[in-house]
Amino acid sequence: MSGLETIKRFFAVPDDPDLVQAQARAFSRQVPLMYGILLVNSLVLAATHSYAPNLLRLFVPGALALVCVIRIVMWLRARDRPISHEKARRILVSAVFVAAILGIGFSSWALSLYPYGNAYQQSHVAFYMGLTGICCVFCLMHLRAAATVVALCVVIPFTGVFVISGNPVFGALALNFVLVVAGLMSILFGNYRDFGALVASRAAMERKQVETQRLSDENNRLANMDSLTGLPNRRSFDRQLNETLAAAQAAGNTIAVARLDLDSFKAINETFGQITGDRVLAEVARRLMALRKADTFVARLGADNYALIMQGELHEASLRTRGEVLSNAMRLSFDLPNAIIHLSASLGFATSRPGDTAEMLYDRADYATSIAKHEARGTAVIFSERHAKEISKVRTLEHALRTANLDEEIHILFQPQFDIALNRTTGYEVLARWRSPTLGNVSPTEFIPMAERIGMISKITQTVLRKALAASVRLPKSLRLSVNLSAHDLASITAIGAIVAMVTRAGTPCRIDFEITETAVMRDMNQANEALLSLLALGSRIALDDFGTGHSSLTHVQKLPLDRIKVDRSFVAEVTTDPTSRAIIKTTVDLCRNLGISCVFEGIETEQQLDALLGLGGTVMQGYLFGKPMTEEMVIEQLSGERKGWQAHRNQIFGAAS
Ligand code: C2E
Ligand code: CA
Ligand code: CA
Repeated sequence: MSGLETIKRFFAVPDDPDLVQAQARAFSRQVPLMYGILLVNSLVLAATHSYAPNLLRLFVPGALALVCVIRIVMWLRARDRPISHEKARRILVSAVFVAAILGIGFSSWALSLYPYGNAYQQSHVAFYMGLTGICCVFCLMHLRAAATVVALCVVIPFTGVFVISGNPVFGALALNFVLVVAGLMSILFGNYRDFGALVASRAAMERKQVETQRLSDENNRLANMDSLTGLPNRRSFDRQLNETLAAAQAAGNTIAVARLDLDSFKAINETFGQITGDRVLAEVARRLMALRKADTFVARLGADNYALIMQGELHEASLRTRGEVLSNAMRLSFDLPNAIIHLSASLGFATSRPGDTAEMLYDRADYATSIAKHEARGTAVIFSERHAKEISKVRTLEHALRTANLDEEIHILFQPQFDIALNRTTGYEVLARWRSPTLGNVSPTEFIPMAERIGMISKITQTVLRKALAASVRLPKSLRLSVNLSAHDLASITAIGAIVAMVTRAGTPCRIDFEITETAVMRDMNQANEALLSLLALGSRIALDDFGTGHSSLTHVQKLPLDRIKVDRSFVAEVTTDPTSRAIIKTTVDLCRNLGISCVFEGIETEQQLDALLGLGGTVMQGYLFGKPMTEEMVIEQLSGERKGWQAHRNQIFGAAS
């Protein structure tokens, strides 16, 4: 770099915009003080030079003072205004020129007074120039170029005039002044460098902060958004529900929560593939957003579950209308690139009550949705008093079951399974009964699903099995007892282990069979197969219960180590009236024959049903016609009667306990 260029760069405005801004801000803060000092010092100097001509004593300092006052006022007024980058550059450029003009102007004026004063007054001129010059350089410390210009404009004439004066004292003064200003400038340049570095590091830090904030905002957005649909996610919904509910409660208002569950969405995924499934989910989100009112919050909670938080008009009729609008919107066809899909959605609404927590409100909407799913698929259900009573009944039952003494409260009944070919009862299905000391008899259709839900089913299975094993010792050796297993028993290695251990402990030969359902097996085919093999190894037989009501995947059925299939009683009930039921029964009988396993019919209540089933090729029969679930004593009594042939004792059987 040439010397000229170095000088040009030295006096040029820096490239760094942050530094330019910082310099302009610092300058504009300090410049009024500089003008103030200049003004006062100049007036005092003018006052001490009473013999000088009026031009130098009054007019010139007056004009300079006026300039100072104008500049002070101007800078003070501009103090709090934001400075744009362009303005900052302009300030820095003009500061150098103004510094040169004022430096030369004030120095020339001060030196022009020199010839008119005595030794004291001349000393005052020297003192004024030195001190005021240093002061101004200090005030301009953030503007290297302007400070240097001022220093030069003062030092050069000062040294020149005082050295030429021939007075050794003034000569020494000039030397001192040059040294002080040189030292001052070197300190100032050092400070200027530090200032530049500080500004640069602060700007870098601010940029980093902005970037960190941006990343954290982005993270926050992603953490609260469902990426597939762009809707707020579960976390965001929970927070919003808490906030909206709290605000509504504080204002004495109510809000409503709606849950929307697509019906049979799993089937869409399985049939059309996940990409199409995703498109459906995104379209559902779009429809919900298009239909929402301005104050409605829509979220996707996961899978095919959506939720809405609603405010405003929330009485039953208005909720019903909203429910209809939403469920109708879901019924419109989904025209996708590779498929036209039709589906429906079940909705549940609940409105807030005083003292509600977000969880309580959500749970009610959730309950209403499950009611819609089971009782009014594809429509909206509004949580009502009836639902509240049901929930409270379920809670009471749950509590009673959790605290029940299972050994005392659970007992078992036996329902005969009659083999037509052998013309005798070959076994009994073991059915659990619960008599709660507080609630009385509770139906297994109520307490078994509940025990599954609250994780108590394995305990119940073990209680039933223990009692069945004890009864089997007292019953004739030719009879087998069939115990029902639930999905949880099959899915848990520990539960199966406990069952195997109990049967093994009871000794051989094993007379316990097990009934399992298709749904239980489908959950985890591999684990279910393992479990079934360990039961088979005991010498137990396995029956597939409620056949025809679950997944009914024949390929799966063929893969399982089954000994019998039990045709569900819903088909048996319709065997005399419904050709479809008859056809299904016929196919199942053929399937069993092909697989070499036996076929059991359950729920036979009438002789007509029995005749129809016999015509279709059924062999093992179970139902009220052959015996209701009965106590162990009744079993023994029935068996003694049966020796005379079951036809003769059918009437006696009918009167059994249930
Ligand atoms: P399931 O295994 O299908 O049991 C047969 C059910 O049908 C029994 O109801 C029985 O009483 C009833 N039933 C039998 N014959 C007839 C008939 O001719 N007509 C009519 N209408 N019903 C008949 P229950 O005892 O109320 O049991 C209901 C369900 O509870 C059972 O259905 C089974 O799924 C479950 N369950 C009962 N005991 C146990 C158990 O110990 N463990 C497990 N896991 N589940 C059990
Ligand atoms: Ca059963
Ligand atoms: Ca059954």
